[in-house]
Amino acid sequence: MTDRRDLMLEEMGIAPVWRLRASAPAPQAVADTPAATGGVSEPKTAPAGDRRSAIMRMDWPELKACVASCTSCELHKKRNKTVFGAGDEHASWLFAGEGPGADEDAQGEPFVGQAGKLLDNMLAAIKLKRGADVYIANVVKCRPPGNRNPEHDEALACEPYLHRQIELIKPRLIVALGKVAAVNLLAREASVASMRGKVHTYRGVPLIVTYHPAYLLRTLADKAKAWEDLCFAVDTMERLKSGTSATI
Ligand code: URA
Ligand code: SF4
Repeated sequence: MTDRRDLMLEEMGIAPVWRLRASAPAPQAVADTPAATGGVSEPKTAPAGDRRSAIMRMDWPELKACVASCTSCELHKKRNKTVFGAGDEHASWLFAGEGPGADEDAQGEPFVGQAGKLLDNMLAAIKLKRGADVYIANVVKCRPPGNRNPEHDEALACEPYLHRQIELIKPRLIVALGKVAAVNLLAREASVASMRGKVHTYRGVPLIVTYHPAYLLRTLADKAKAWEDLCFAVDTMERLKSGTSATI
């Protein structure tokens, strides 16, 4: 028997894309045992506060150059390319992932692997596409080796970049993709299940949480929930654009 969610997905004309399976298994987002890294290596000349305020004054070219040459955390050591983020620099929508995987690290572009294909389909399902009123970024700009989760100090060291990107873009709504993005942006430990379906805020910008596309590739059962989240995101955006309070 076809379940109700399948029928709904079919009705929306998105079932075939959402049923696309990854040809290769998605990378496991499993945390490594925290390495004794000895903390964030800030540039010797700049304490964290100075570094953040310098970043907060940068324009796009300065910010891009700064990320491209950044060595502020351990992740710089094994990266091939930094992944700054990409898209419409005046987008209403900001989708924030966790960090580059192998494909992104090789190409320097966010979400270009299997998870990226699903993200494109998710965007298409709500009539969005990358680059058109959409910006895509990550919590960390360098690939965590072996696709482990970024360590807290790594995410913290990279946070001023995303913060500045958000200040420059001024998105109306942030969609945090997965637990790592949500936990780092909201600065609290919680499950995606408990955070989805609500409007949170990141530094005053409305933020909603949904599952990471790489997780959805492994967990088909939660795709319908992700679809609900996308519908919630669209409703939230409409309310934001019409000036009705969206934050609860
Ligand atoms: N997963 C992420 O979180 N970000 C990417 O850019 C690619 C995969
Ligand atoms: Fe710098 Fe961020 Fe890369 Fe760490 S992850 S080296 S803070 S750009």
